Amino acid sequence: MTDDIFARTRALFELPEGVVYLDGNSLGPLPSGARQRVLSEIDIGWGERLIRGWNESGWIDLPDTVGNKIARLIGAPPGTVIAGDSTSVNLFKALTGALSLKPERRVVLSDTGNFPTDLYVAQVAIRALGQGHELKVVDPSRVAEAIDDSVAVLMLTEVDYGTGRLHDMNALTAKAHSAGVLTIWDLCHSAGALPVDVGAAGADFAVGCGYKYLNGGPGAPAFIYVRPETGDRADPALAGWMGHEAPFVFDPVYRPGAGISRMRVGTPPILSMAALDAALDVWEGVDMADVRKRSIVLSERFIKEVEARCPELELASPRDPSVRGSQVSFRFREGYAAMQALIANGVIGDFRAPDIMRFGFTPLYISGADVVKAAQTLERVMTERLWDRSEYRMRSKVT
Ligand SMILES: *Cc1c(COP(=O)(O)O)cnc(C)c1O
Repeated sequence: MTDDIFARTRALFELPEGVVYLDGNSLGPLPSGARQRVLSEIDIGWGERLIRGWNESGWIDLPDTVGNKIARLIGAPPGTVIAGDSTSVNLFKALTGALSLKPERRVVLSDTGNFPTDLYVAQVAIRALGQGHELKVVDPSRVAEAIDDSVAVLMLTEVDYGTGRLHDMNALTAKAHSAGVLTIWDLCHSAGALPVDVGAAGADFAVGCGYKYLNGGPGAPAFIYVRPETGDRADPALAGWMGHEAPFVFDPVYRPGAGISRMRVGTPPILSMAALDAALDVWEGVDMADVRKRSIVLSERFIKEVEARCPELELASPRDPSVRGSQVSFRFREGYAAMQALIANGVIGDFRAPDIMRFGFTPLYISGADVVKAAQTLERVMTERLWDRSEYRMRSKVT
C-alpha cells in the first residue's frame, strides 16, 4: 500500500537519469508541478496579467496559502503559519518577538548542535535589542538541565544538521513551559522529514525551510509559525508594510496586523512562492507517519550496507532511529574528497566540515534499490581509493 503511495510521489519529480539523489535535505529536487506552475506564473501572471496578477492570480494571499499547506505538515492550525523570507530572517522575528513577551528575563538558551546561522541571528539580535540579554549555549545533552527561571527563550533546532540527532520537542517544550520559558523550534530538517506536531507540543514559535524536504527550489521562501494564543501579543523587532494591519491604507504609523500576518515584512517573491506552493501539492494524500516509517527502513538499510562494506567510515548519527532525523552521517578524515568522488560516480550527498559525509533519505523519491546502489558506489569509492585525487580535494564555495 505505502509502496503505491511512494511510487506515485516519485513519478511527480524530475530526477536526472542515473543519479541517486541523497541530498534532498539540502535542496529538494524539481517537482514537475513546480516547473509548470512557475512557467504559467511567468506567461499568464507576469506576462499577461501584469500588476493585476496580485489580485487575479492570488499573489497577495500566496504567503497564507503556502503557509496553510505547511501548517498541515507540522501540526499547526490553519492561519498560524506564513511563508516568506529566509529561515534566518524568520528566526530574528521569532526571537525578538519571543523576547518581547518575556521582558523580565535575560537568557536565550540554545545548544552547540544548532545551525550556525541560528546562533549568529541570536548574537546579533541580542546586540541590536541592547537590553542586556545573554546567549547561553550548552551541549545538546544538557539542555533540559539548563532550563530554569532565568531563561526567557529556549531556541533549538529539532534535528541536528550535522549528525541528525533528534531532540524531544514535546519533553523539552513541556520542561520549558514549567519554568515559564518560551520555545522557538527550528524545523529545517524536520518539516517534510518526520511527523511534527507543534500544536500538541505547545511550541510557541517555529521556523523552517522551504527548499529542503519541502522541495520548493533553490532559495525557496521559509516559514514561521506562531502559537495562536501568542500571535497578537508578540512584537518582533522587524516590520514592513505587508505586516501592517492595512497595507493599502499607507498609514505612516506602523500598526501590526493580527496574529501571524504581522510576521509578513515586504513583498513576497512570487515566482519562488509559486514553485513552493506547487511543490507542496506533492504531499496530498501522503501520511507523514508513512514517510517516517519508510525513511527509517531506508536509513537502517543504508547504515547496515555501508558498515558492512566500508570499515573506514564511522557512523556519526545516533544508531537508534527513534532519536535520529531523516539523514545519516558518516565521519571520514577525507570526507570532502570522498563525497566529490561519490558525486562523480552518480550518488549525490554532501559534506559538512570538518569530516562529515551526509546523506538524506526522502521516501517521496528514494527507493530501497537507490540505497543499495549508493552503498555499492560508496564501497567502490573507498576500496579503490577513488577519492585520492587532488581535484577532489579542491573545495568549492558550497560543500
Ligand atoms: C538550512 C538551515 C537554515 C538555513 O537558513 P536560511 O536562512 O534559509 O539560509 C537555518 N537553520 C537550520 C537548522 C538549517 O538546517
